Amino acid sequence: MAQRYEGGCMCGAVRYVAEAAPLNERICHCRSCQKAVGAAFNARLMFRADEVRLSGPVKIAYSSPAVKRGFCAECGTTVLSGREAAGVLAVTSGSLDDPSLFRPAMHIWISSKQPWLKLDDGLSQFDEAAPA
Ligand SMILES: [Zn+2]
Ligand SMILES: [Zn+2]
Repeated sequence: MAQRYEGGCMCGAVRYVAEAAPLNERICHCRSCQKAVGAAFNARLMFRADEVRLSGPVKIAYSSPAVKRGFCAECGTTVLSGREAAGVLAVTSGSLDDPSLFRPAMHIWISSKQPWLKLDDGLSQFDEAAPA
C-alpha cells in the first residue's frame, strides 16, 4: 500500500490527501518560494496533481505565469505550489500532519540560499533548478 500523505493548514479549513509516492522531495531556496512561505526555503513534496485530493478554501496566487501558490483563505498557511502545464502539485512539508514523512533528496536554487544557512546534510545541491 502506498504511503499516505495527509495534511492541511493551521486552522484546519484546508485539507489534502495523497496516496502515492511523491515524484520528488526537494528543498527549494528560490526567492519565489522564500516569499510564498515567508521563510528561508520551501521544503516540499511534489506529486502528480491528479493524485492530490484537496478540500477547503484554497486561495491561488501566481508567483510567475507558470507557478501557482495555494494558501488557506482563512488562516493564510501556504499549503501548496504547482505547475499546471506540467500537471504537478507540491505540498509544503510543514503542512503535513506528520512532517517527519518528508525525505528530501536535494537542495535547489542554492544561488539564492540565505548566507547564514549552513548545509551539512550531505544532500546534492544545485545552483538553480535540478537537471532534467
Ligand atoms: Zn486555514
Ligand atoms: Zn522555489
